[in-house]
Amino acid sequence: MKIMSVNAGSSSLKFTLFEMNTKEVIISGVFERIGIMGSKYTLKYQGEKITQEVDLEDHEKAVEILLDKLLALGVVRSFSEIEGVGHRIVSGGEKYTKSVLIDDQVIQDLIALKDFAPLHNPAHVKAIVAFQRVLPDTPMVAVFDTAFHQTMDEVSYLYPVPYEWYQKYGVRKYGAHGTSHRYIARKISEVLGREDLRLISCHIGNGGSITAIRDGKCVDTSMGFTPLAGIMMGTRSGDIDSSMIPYVMDKCEITAQEVIDALNKKSGLLGLSQYSSDMRDIIDGMAEHKENCLRAFEKYTQTIVNYVSQYYVRLGGCDVICFTAGVGENSAPTRAKVLEKLAPLGVKFDPLKNKEAVGVLAKISTDDSKIQVYVVPTDEELMIAEDTLSLIR
Ligand code: ADP
Repeated sequence: MKIMSVNAGSSSLKFTLFEMNTKEVIISGVFERIGIMGSKYTLKYQGEKITQEVDLEDHEKAVEILLDKLLALGVVRSFSEIEGVGHRIVSGGEKYTKSVLIDDQVIQDLIALKDFAPLHNPAHVKAIVAFQRVLPDTPMVAVFDTAFHQTMDEVSYLYPVPYEWYQKYGVRKYGAHGTSHRYIARKISEVLGREDLRLISCHIGNGGSITAIRDGKCVDTSMGFTPLAGIMMGTRSGDIDSSMIPYVMDKCEITAQEVIDALNKKSGLLGLSQYSSDMRDIIDGMAEHKENCLRAFEKYTQTIVNYVSQYYVRLGGCDVICFTAGVGENSAPTRAKVLEKLAPLGVKFDPLKNKEAVGVLAKISTDDSKIQVYVVPTDEELMIAEDTLSLIR
């Protein structure tokens, strides 16, 4: 049984086709620069990479080419072999607490929620409509990044601002990376053979968020009304004092939107190091004793430690900490620094196991550590495909 998982952005469309009986990836790929000059697609199939420049005037064209390629490569003999398509959706607002089958109402809701994800939700709608045109009889499922976080109570999701902002305009914490945190919670529960876990899940990629999870449910998360909040990231600032916004507008003679853009795209590791948003570059720079890289790394790891320790108290203790995503799965120095700073909580890790854990599931804490620590590679695409399968059944 084949299910496709789709992640559409404003000018890109990523897909993964799974064989659900074995959970294996059959083919995956990305269509880039949709609607822009120089568009192309890249497919990964049977260990090979196929790249082709091609005109992609819109998402529908990308979907048409994608499906034609599946036929041409012999991946499917007819489109009816694709039994469902799952779409990653950035914002489901307060309405969507779990994944749902897509109907006209869901599409209307996604359009209505566009203020909460101005770049993403309209793109998701374009991709859904494009797939519906080409595969009119195939059921589609919406899987929301925000859904997992809907179990937060109001102490966690409310901001201490005028309450009517929440009542009238939905100003509250929604969080993000929910599909990844949900996957991590499920996976670690399988690994440890128990559901009753106090888990702190650290999804640290270019974007990053920390989530406190009890018994598989989200208690609190570091991203907020938008993904700008929380820990320091590759190019995002994370939490700041919002009073700096009018001050910077005045000093730099820029608009509020330009300040927000700088907080999203020119801050974080890139902003503090004035060098790179990529942790690999920062670590290389530290090896050369570059002050700018040391400064960025120190602040970055500290903001993670701040959230982990806050959530330790929020959960009334912690059984397991998991690291995932680009930095979390691959960067032993980042994990080492975070774990050293967490020593007052009784965390102990094995430096060798930490060093060897690159992109694989591994326990890196010592047996006498008060909190178990694991590296768990995330798989949001598989989670989307599994939700799709269970809903279409
Ligand atoms: P996102 O999905 O948020 O775009 P990813 O989870 O793919 O991001 O993470 C990408 C980031 O992971 C890169 O920007 C880089 O900083 C980091 N990264 C990837 N591999 C390594 C590595 N070996 N060492 C350190 N950082 C890494």
